[in-house]
Amino acid sequence: MTATLIDGKALAARIRERVTAEVSLLAPSGLATVLVGDDPASAIYVSNKRALCVKAGMRDIHRHLPGDITQDAAVAEIDKLAADPEVTGILVQLPLPPHLDAEALIDRIPTDKDVDGLTEASAGRLALGRPGLRPCTPSGVLALLDESGTELAGAHAVVVGRSDLVGKPMVQLLLQRNATVTICHSRTRDLAAVCRQADVLVVAAGVPRLIGADAVKPGATVIDVGIHRTNDGLCGDVDSAVRDVAGALSPVPGGVGPMTIAMLLRNTARAAALAGRNANSPAMTSG
Ligand code: NAP
Repeated sequence: MTATLIDGKALAARIRERVTAEVSLLAPSGLATVLVGDDPASAIYVSNKRALCVKAGMRDIHRHLPGDITQDAAVAEIDKLAADPEVTGILVQLPLPPHLDAEALIDRIPTDKDVDGLTEASAGRLALGRPGLRPCTPSGVLALLDESGTELAGAHAVVVGRSDLVGKPMVQLLLQRNATVTICHSRTRDLAAVCRQADVLVVAAGVPRLIGADAVKPGATVIDVGIHRTNDGLCGDVDSAVRDVAGALSPVPGGVGPMTIAMLLRNTARAAALAGRNANSPAMTSG
C-alpha cells in the first residue's frame, strides 16, 4: 500500500482564500504579533504570519520588544494591545526568553482576542466543550483529517505527545469528534504497540522519525506534526517508510505547517466577528 498524501499546502491556500473573502465583509480586523528578542527562527515565523495576515486583508500590528524587557514592561505592552479596539487578535510568539513568565504574559490576552487559543481561559473553554478560539496547530490537524475523508466518530485515535500547545488540545478536539482517544508520552511503554492500534495517528513528539512503519496499522491515517531541520533537509516525527503502510499521510513539509498559519488567520477573522464588527460574519464555532 502507498499512502495518499494529504496536501496541507493546497488546503491552507483554500482556507486563506475563504478567510480573505470573510474579512472583506468585516470592519477592519487587526492581528497584533508580539516578538520578544531576536531569535532568528521566531523572527521568520512572525514575518510569515504578518505577510499572510496582510494578504488576507487584515491590519498588521507588530510589536518587536527587546530581549531583555522586564516582565512588567512586557505586560504593559500586551495590556495596551488588549485595550486597543483596532486589535482583534493578539499572538505572542513562543518561546519567550527564559527570564519572562510566559504563562502569565499569555494570560493577559483577553479570551476573545486569544487567536492562538493558549490562554488558561481558552483551554478551559475547549476542555468543557464551550465555544472559543482553538489552538491553531491541532485545529489544522483536524482540518487535514477532514480533508482526507477520515471518519473520526468511533475511530481509535492515538496522539503521541501531551504538550499544552499540540497534544492536549488535540486530544480534546478528537474527543469532541467522538473518537476514542489514547494519549502517549515519553513514559509510555511499548509506544509502537500502542500506535499500531490506531485508526488515526497524530504524532507531535518532537523526535525526528520516532514513528516507523512497524508502529502503523495498515491503512491508518497518519498526521505528522513534527518538524526538524536536518543535514538532508526537513523531516518530521514519522519515518518515510510509513508511506508504504499508511492509508493517508500528511507529509513534512507541506502538511501541518501551512495549516497552522491558515488557522491563525481563521481565528483572527472569527475574533473580529466576535467583536461584533459585522453581524453577517461567520460565528465562532466549537470546531
Ligand atoms: P513538546 O512541548 O516538546 O512536547 C513533546 C511531547 O512528546 C511531550 O509530551 C513528550 O512527553 C512527548 N515525547 C517526547 N519524546 C517521546 C517519545 N520518545 N515517545 C513518546 N512521546 C514522547 O513539543 P510540541 O510543542 O508539542 O511540538 C512537537 C513537535 O511538533 C515539534 O517537532 C515541533 O517543532 C512540532 N510543531 C510543529 C508545528 C507546525 O506548525 N508544524 C506547530 C507546533 C509544533 P512528556 O510529556 O512525557 O515529556
